[in-house]
Amino acid sequence: MFKLIDGKAHSARLRGEIRARAEKFSEACGRQIGLAVVLVGNNPASQVYVRNKIKACEEAGIKSFANYLPDDATQSQVEELVTSLVEDSKVDGILVQLPLPKHLDEKAILDLIPVEKDVDGFSEQNIGRLCMNRDCLVACTPNGVMQMLKAEGIDLKGKNAVVIGRSNIVGKPMAMLLLNADATVTVCHSKTENLKEICRNADILVAAIGRAKFVTADMVKQGAVVIDVGINRNAEGKLCGDVDFDAVKEKCSYITPVPGGVGPMTITMLLYNTVCAAERSCKL
Ligand code: NDP
Repeated sequence: MFKLIDGKAHSARLRGEIRARAEKFSEACGRQIGLAVVLVGNNPASQVYVRNKIKACEEAGIKSFANYLPDDATQSQVEELVTSLVEDSKVDGILVQLPLPKHLDEKAILDLIPVEKDVDGFSEQNIGRLCMNRDCLVACTPNGVMQMLKAEGIDLKGKNAVVIGRSNIVGKPMAMLLLNADATVTVCHSKTENLKEICRNADILVAAIGRAKFVTADMVKQGAVVIDVGINRNAEGKLCGDVDFDAVKEKCSYITPVPGGVGPMTITMLLYNTVCAAERSCKL
């Protein structure tokens, strides 16, 4: 019998803790924690994400500073804006919503965000610190997965963990976090040979691919913990993950659904990182 990992419940519990820490910060530091969000252009998905992030901030007692630039904003306009946020002492975290319009140099813009305000955890310094298992701001989605594994009491030490996907924002930091938690980690990608066999050996299997129902029951070991990071739409336009949930769930000890699994944790971990960044800057 499998247990469903309820991302909404984990998220609600953590948001309660975040709200309490945000209140404590306001009392101690005489101002609200601040998160600046930068949105360039009118990508509809990005607009929804930004709206959700701003709403989540309000609910958590974090002040949001929304900054909108038009689709044709120049590199220097975006850089000036980000630089002004870096210098603003009311801003504890800066988030530049990706993807940026194609004509902009994304790396140059992200590189302006100092490590202590990099609440997405995407900077080279934060990723380097993560690799060295040092204190850092960790990318939100994989950090959310770790929070759920911990809260569920899932033992990672010495276990075989397989991560499918090696992106800088999900797969790689996920693998690093699992390694730091003493799992034995294999990272798979589109060039991996014998993927099925590797996955069948996983005690913990994390799918971060972006292909609907990619992970089938014959790829899963009996009793495995299966974490589905993927967000896809099936032929009917319905949200689904990278895992063939209905077929796979019977073999699992734990599994995350899509929607309602990893997804709700991502924004929560953004709030969490913002609180951590603020507390560090205020030396709380
Ligand atoms: P990317 O497209 O950046 O990376 C996908 C990875 O999957 C790549 O490493 C790729 O390999 C690998 N891959 C693709 N096809 C195969 C295959 N046939 N076999 C094995 N590996 C394969 O995606 P992201 O990491 O950004 O996101 C992954 C998924 O997670 C997406 O569905 C995305 O929407 C979702 N997501 C969900 C979030 C949430 O909040 N729940 C947040 C962020 C992402 P290669 O490197 O060789 O190309």
